[in-house]
Amino acid sequence: MNRLHPVSRQEDIFPEYRDTPIGLLLECHNLNRKLDAHTQAQLLIGMCMDNRKHLRIPDNFAYVIRAGGANLRFSEFKVSYAIAVGGVKSIALIGHTQCGMVNLISKKTSFVQGLVDYAGWERESAEDHFNYYAPMFEIGNEVDFVLSEAKRLRLRYPKIQVAPLLYRVEDNLLYLVKEKHRKIKINRLH
Ligand SMILES: [Zn+2]
Repeated sequence: MNRLHPVSRQEDIFPEYRDTPIGLLLECHNLNRKLDAHTQAQLLIGMCMDNRKHLRIPDNFAYVIRAGGANLRFSEFKVSYAIAVGGVKSIALIGHTQCGMVNLISKKTSFVQGLVDYAGWERESAEDHFNYYAPMFEIGNEVDFVLSEAKRLRLRYPKIQVAPLLYRVEDNLLYLVKEKHRKIKINRLH
């Protein structure tokens, strides 16, 4: 089943995201909407640190937390800050294709060797480092992860709209991720 929903026209945006900061993000990035100036943040974007992605968004529009795999589990204080102090009411959680946080174990050899060669680490410390952290940062599958992470964030921040999205590095576009039972929360642009 293809769980990605392309956005190539305004009507492609799910109704609950239209006229919200999520919809605006999709219009700016995918539909080339004119970038209006914003005076305050409207959105928190959680996305991977991967170098292949660049978003087209207006100035002052969004807080951005970049963390491997768009995994915000270890960035909670920053998420809370963006909501409580920054005043954002929506979160766009953006996973991406070809993510390095999928199947981390396959990268163990190059990870360890790279730390030894490029960073000057002892091999044993590099192995311990990998073994300790890899299970925490492994995301399994990009689409499944972004869905489960969106669910977790909705439970944690019940008044906040959370949208799971996927960035395809093959075409540099954002896709909506279809959810089986979407809980509708609409926070219109303010
Ligand atoms: Zn990634």
